[in-house]
Amino acid sequence: MIVDGHVHIWQRKMLPDSLLRAYLEPLLALDGLAMDLTIDREQDWPMSQVNSEQLLESMAEAKVDRAVVLPLDFGLVDPPGVGIEQYNDWVFECCRKDDKLIPFIGIDPMRGKVAEELVRKYVKHCDAKGVKVYPGTGYYPNDEKVDFFWKLMEDNDLIVVTHGGASWGPLDDKYTHPALFKEVLAKHPEMKLIVAHFGGKFRSETYQLAKEFPNVYTDCSALQGWLPTDPDTCKSRLQEAVKNMPGRVIFGSDWPLFDMAYPYAYWVRFVTEEAWTTEGEKLRVLGGTMSKILQI
Ligand SMILES: [Zn+2]
Repeated sequence: MIVDGHVHIWQRKMLPDSLLRAYLEPLLALDGLAMDLTIDREQDWPMSQVNSEQLLESMAEAKVDRAVVLPLDFGLVDPPGVGIEQYNDWVFECCRKDDKLIPFIGIDPMRGKVAEELVRKYVKHCDAKGVKVYPGTGYYPNDEKVDFFWKLMEDNDLIVVTHGGASWGPLDDKYTHPALFKEVLAKHPEMKLIVAHFGGKFRSETYQLAKEFPNVYTDCSALQGWLPTDPDTCKSRLQEAVKNMPGRVIFGSDWPLFDMAYPYAYWVRFVTEEAWTTEGEKLRVLGGTMSKILQI
């Protein structure tokens, strides 16, 4: 079974304009984008709206069995047209139609009481299994102000996916160092943490954190940004990750973000077929580990 630990769906009005633009910049720099996006480009961007039907089609093509869907809460930075509860409601509603899709909650802990109430709502009524957070919106994970949130995660056995590495636009990557979770995990050792993108440019911090805390995992989403031009870097990053965190590396795509530059099915095939690790480790990366922590 192939499990993708990191995908997104959204309607255009669910993401703030500034964030959609921020996501576009690095993508436009990638090879293979021959589109003219100069005029009203965020409106024309084919990925500015993606729904669960499109995701399921892409998954079928790529032979992915299950995917974890992560809503994104950037609303405290730049409010989108649709509120965060409505975005989360929509994601849970879409995922209810097909058990191939596993919805997480997307919420900014800086919302305080509102964040707590929404987490409780989706745990109680929708059996939510995890939460996506993005500290780049403006908080240090080890700030006392958000400690209530990690306690809530630990008490409800929720998996936390955090963005690690570079951030663009109005988001600040001084907040996205994986090492900032050190005190959090010391205090909440049962909390399962997935650092997305290996932690990107801060990945050595992810590996250090994983040495100290057994409940730290990482996902390889966005690594396909190196493809098709630099497969060697892509392979060596995968190798580095499993060497540092055997059994704790999770396949991820960040669908739909890289699909135009390097199709989803190619990315799955790359990880499945390239000779970068043992077959046993590949099985754990491609679904074994994520199935275990999701208890599916
Ligand atoms: Zn993502």
